[in-house]
Amino acid sequence: MTDVSIPLPKCQPLKILTGQKAIVTGGSSGIGKAVAIALGEAGADVVVNYHSNEEEANNVAQTITSAGSQALVVGADVSQEDQVQSMFRQAIDKFGTVDILVANAGLQQDAPLDEMTLKQWEKVISVNLTGQFLCAREAVREFKRRGVVEKVSCAAGKIICMSSVHEIIPWAGHVNYAASKGGIMQMMRTIAQEVAPFRIRVNSICPGAIRTPINSQAWNTQEAYNSLMKLVPYNRIGEPEDIGRAAAWLASDQADYITGASLLVDGGMCLYPGFAHGG
Ligand code: NAP
Repeated sequence: MTDVSIPLPKCQPLKILTGQKAIVTGGSSGIGKAVAIALGEAGADVVVNYHSNEEEANNVAQTITSAGSQALVVGADVSQEDQVQSMFRQAIDKFGTVDILVANAGLQQDAPLDEMTLKQWEKVISVNLTGQFLCAREAVREFKRRGVVEKVSCAAGKIICMSSVHEIIPWAGHVNYAASKGGIMQMMRTIAQEVAPFRIRVNSICPGAIRTPINSQAWNTQEAYNSLMKLVPYNRIGEPEDIGRAAAWLASDQADYITGASLLVDGGMCLYPGFAHGG
């Protein structure tokens, strides 16, 4: 079994986000980078947020510009209220409004429970969960202020929270991360319920194992890859572009009746593969 033998299916990007303005947090790496590019290729102008890697954020912006959309690179720590507010101000100053937020920035700081420090717990909760709250709150403020502009979108705004299969699957040794993703699930559903009357859609994407730097130890040797495949019925690792395509569709009017949903993009990881041949 080898990962290189299974190429990502080719799909032409559809211009389903023309005229829309998006913010993608953590757009400088992995999933966020692929989402920012996919939204740009679908016709959206995109704010590419980064935390430490400005150079890669600039490369992502360049790719978006080459696809014919505009891009703005903004450094901000999503766990800091003033920096999130400043990022939204810069986005609105440049593009006039925001139609789509993809709250993607996230990290892991793993340790067995009895060795996990309070600092590790708080860091992951503050970036992964509080960061998404702060971004979603600013987005909803802007969506409510502006309302629906029918020639742009049926909805006043769309929020996509980057969650994980670990909003469902417990994950020993990663209690801070799993708690942050479980928290995102109920935060997303609650915000979705609250803002649906304003025609604001709020959903999550739950990636399974995607080939990015966050989990390189799970795929960067053949042995690790083979072991990972025991958890993936579809028998290939996910590529960041798999998530980018899902995000572009979920943010578009093609998904207009979807709100409060967690979209699993996981090659079947949540299908209890251990039960495939008996239990
Ligand atoms: P990644 O390649 O490590 O990228 C993480 C991104 O988050 C980087 O752009 C990083 O920015 C940014 N970031 C980190 N701390 C930040 C902060 N305080 N403020 C703003 N941005 C910050 O990881 P990834 O795999 O793409 O993960 C992206 C999201 O997908 C995360 O929420 C993760 O939990 C989720 N996810 C990933 C997988 C997977 O298999 N890869 C599976 C399920 C869910 P800089 O690099 O500029 O510092």
